Parts: sequence; C-alpha cells; structure tokens
Amino acid sequence: MDERLKKYATQDVPRYTSYPTAVQFSNDFAPETWVDWLGALPEDASLSVYVHIPFCRQMCWYCGCHTTIPNTYERAATYTRRLLKEIALTAPMLKGPKGRVTHFHFGGGTPTYLAEDDLRAIVAKVRDLFGFAEGAEIAIEMDPRTFSREKAFALAEMGFNRGSFGVQDFNARVQELVNRIQPYEMVAECVKNLHDAGIEAVNFDLMYGLPGQTVDSVIETAKLAAGLRPDRIAVFGYAHVPWFKKHQKMIRDEDLPGIEERYEQAVAIGETLTANGYTAIGLDHYARDDDPMTTALHAGTLRRNFQGYTVDPADALVGFGCSAISSLPRGYAQSARDMAKWATRIEEGRLAIDRGIAITPEDRMRAEIIERLMCFLRVDPRAIAEKHGFDPAMLAASYEKLKPLEADGLCRVEEDGRVIVPEDRRLFVRTVCTAFDAHYQPRPQRHAKAV
Ligand code: SF4
Repeated sequence: MDERLKKYATQDVPRYTSYPTAVQFSNDFAPETWVDWLGALPEDASLSVYVHIPFCRQMCWYCGCHTTIPNTYERAATYTRRLLKEIALTAPMLKGPKGRVTHFHFGGGTPTYLAEDDLRAIVAKVRDLFGFAEGAEIAIEMDPRTFSREKAFALAEMGFNRGSFGVQDFNARVQELVNRIQPYEMVAECVKNLHDAGIEAVNFDLMYGLPGQTVDSVIETAKLAAGLRPDRIAVFGYAHVPWFKKHQKMIRDEDLPGIEERYEQAVAIGETLTANGYTAIGLDHYARDDDPMTTALHAGTLRRNFQGYTVDPADALVGFGCSAISSLPRGYAQSARDMAKWATRIEEGRLAIDRGIAITPEDRMRAEIIERLMCFLRVDPRAIAEKHGFDPAMLAASYEKLKPLEADGLCRVEEDGRVIVPEDRRLFVRTVCTAFDAHYQPRPQRHAKAV
C-alpha cells in the first residue's frame, strides 16, 4: 500500500448514499412535513418503493444491519400486518395515477424470513395501491441458508425478477468465525433454483476485512463467485464497531486483518472480478457487460441511492417499515428505528416518520457533484454549479480542500476544474467527495472507514 494512502484508509467517511447524509437528519422533524412533500410530488412522478424486513433466523457476527432474531414467527406476522397498514396509510397521500413504481425492493434483515403468504400480501398491497410500471424491477434480498427451490418458484410467481444473495466469503473457516455456514454448493444450488424459476437477474454481496480472511482466500472466493456468473457483485468492507453492534464482540480483534491487509484484499477482489469479465462500477460494485448497470455506467445514467448503485431513475423513493429511509425531491425522511415506536405510531393510524432533512438548493447542487463522482469517478463541478444557478466561485473552498488529496494522488484537478479520481484510487472516492460536502466533520466513529 502506498504510504501516502494509509492516513486516508482509516479515515471515517460517509457512504454517500444520499447528500446530505443520514448523520445530518434532524430528530426535530414533523411527519406533517413529509406528508406535504408527498402531496407535492408531480402526478406523473415515477416511484421506487423500498420495504424493510428487520428479521433474520440467526445472527451473523459481522452484521451491521437493522435486524433482530425473533423467538417466534408471531412477531414477523404482526410486523407484516402493520406494514400493510403503513402502506395503506401512505398511498392516498400521493396524487396521480397508479402504475408508476419502476423499482420495488425488499431489504433487511432477511426478507425471505417472511412466510410466503405474508410476502405475497405485501407485494399485492403495493401492486393494488401503487401499481407497477411496465417492466418494473421487483427485487429481493435472500439468505442462501433459508432458500429453497419452492421459494424460488413462489417468488417468481409473485413477480420478482431480481434476487440478491449475501455470499460474503466461501472459505469454511471464515464462515465459522462469522457464524454463517453456507458452502459454495449451497449458493450454487440457490442460483440454479432462481434461474430455473425464471428469475434471471442475480446479485451477490461479498465482503473483505472479515476475521480469518487473507488475500489468497478472498481471491479464491471472488473466483468462485464470478464462476457462478451473477449479474452484479457488490463488495463491502467489514465495519468492526462492537461498541455499537454488541454481537460483533463475538469477533476477536486478533482474527481481524489490519488496514494494509484490508486494502490488499479489496484490491485483490476487484482485480479478480475484472479479470473474470466484470466491469468495475463506482466505489465497490462490479457488473457483467450485459447488465443494465454497465450500460448505465457507459451511458452516464447510473444513479446512487439508499440501496447503493442503481439504474433506477425514479423521481422519489418511498420506504416502508421500521427504520426505512425515503427520498423525495424536497428532502429525506426516516421512519422510527425503534420497533416499539414504529409499531405504536402505525397502530395509532399515524405515519412513523421521526427524522429527516429538507434539501436546500445548495445541497441539491452539491448532491449532484457528489453523486456523479461516486458513480463515474469524474465530475465537472463548475458546470454543475452553473446549471443550478450558482456562481462556480463558491466552490473555491472545495478546490482548496482537494489540493492535499491531489498531492497524495487521490484525484487530479484539470485546468478547466474537472475532478478525476484515477481508477486505482476508486476506494478513496468518498474521501474526494468530502471536499464538496459542506456538512462533513471528520469525527471518529461518525461514519464507516474509507477502506
Ligand atoms: S442475514 Fe444479513 S441481516 Fe441477517 S444477521 Fe446476517 S448479515 Fe445481518
């Protein structure tokens, strides 16, 4: 690892799945504001819908998601009933015809933890009250350990056309250390079942920085994963925050790779995937040449939202469920992260929104600069400032912040002001984005590590 990179690798930087980021959301946010924003959406606005299912069968020690392990299915059944109520409460607040949902995503947690009838009821409710657009993507995150051939066919029958598997690592010792045993053969069988059921689009998530991982072991996993030919592979670094996620105490510090090793693992996975026919996308995604995400990268239409990189061009993202985040042209909002609070609000017939932030015109301009950098590793900030009606001179402080980053090789600033992040510095693109982030405060434990 280049000596100059070390100080950046351990720096806490936002993931920039939004700007302003969730850290800036205010608790002093009235649900009525959210209702106003929903009502102000144009009648022809396209929609993306996200549903959060915060349940899993067993805890993976590395987990950083908002999830729980219920003792009985009763909790999930009750949660489903409340979700249906939340969807029904929200739908009348939007004006315009049905049939505008271009993307529908089930995340978690493990959405396939839900019984088939409950999943079916949620899909039917969104279809009835919002309606899917022609060719809509209907996607779901799945756990290979609880997936079956029957489930694959049931999902296809419900209309799902993309499935995402948390793979992380195929190495047996690593799987043992993170409490997630799912051999290669099991994942291969899941992919086959999904394809047999007619669900062609498959995503994998891989991880680096896990206990027991080495450069050689992650290369082996990346080769095996690429051999199964998923359409997209996302690669995430493990964030070890046991003071915040108590179950991570099950991971011993001495089993964790150091920062240089983490960096080498991330680079090795990227090199293995690109050598096996995948195109690198933004910070941490890889896609096959025939995948719409690769097309969107080349066409300049790739986007980034709360689910990460996406080809979803929707004007608004409406999230349902405990902790779900929504994004509207006028701002962002998040439902209560505390399950009891979320449940009480829904039972009372009220929306559960309890944090949020309005987007100012300057935020909107900076958001576009940051999103384009995150997606394409290059941006023309001055042109974007002018497009939004601002004097490009207002970005002088940002260009000043870029100087040390440029000196350390994280980016290049062209004479005309364009900013370019070299391909081999993509892991540090978020650090470059911080130069344009007017809210960023480099405080430890506020965001994830750069590497
Ligand atoms: S399956 Fe996913 S969400 Fe559930 S505990 Fe494991 S990592 Fe967390």
